[in-house]
Amino acid sequence: MATLHRCPHCGQDTIARLIKLTARAKSPAVCPACGGRSCTGITPLSLMALFALILVCGTLLRLAARTGNRWSLLAVLALFGGGFIYVTWRTPLVKLERYPLQRAIAISITVALFAAGGWWWFSGG
Ligand SMILES: [Zn+2]
Repeated sequence: MATLHRCPHCGQDTIARLIKLTARAKSPAVCPACGGRSCTGITPLSLMALFALILVCGTLLRLAARTGNRWSLLAVLALFGGGFIYVTWRTPLVKLERYPLQRAIAISITVALFAAGGWWWFSGG
């Protein structure tokens, strides 16, 4: 079933799409089959996807603001919202108990990647 997401506790596809989109550490999704609590994880990939999304939409927003066209502004905001939901939807659910560790690992990997990329950018240019 494409509309249900996998529960990280019991491995069954029990979490509805809407519940997954709103599953956060403070309001976790509860699996109807096993009662396990889970939330949308933060992975290096999702962090970078959100970063790229903010970068792209920020640039587009500046362009749209320059034209002064209300519809292009709305289009950029819709793109940002849609992209945000897409990233959240694509990111797998994780067990809530594991979440702080995974978040710490994801953030440190992403920071290390950006530091390495920045060093390469400045030393190369
Ligand atoms: Zn479950």
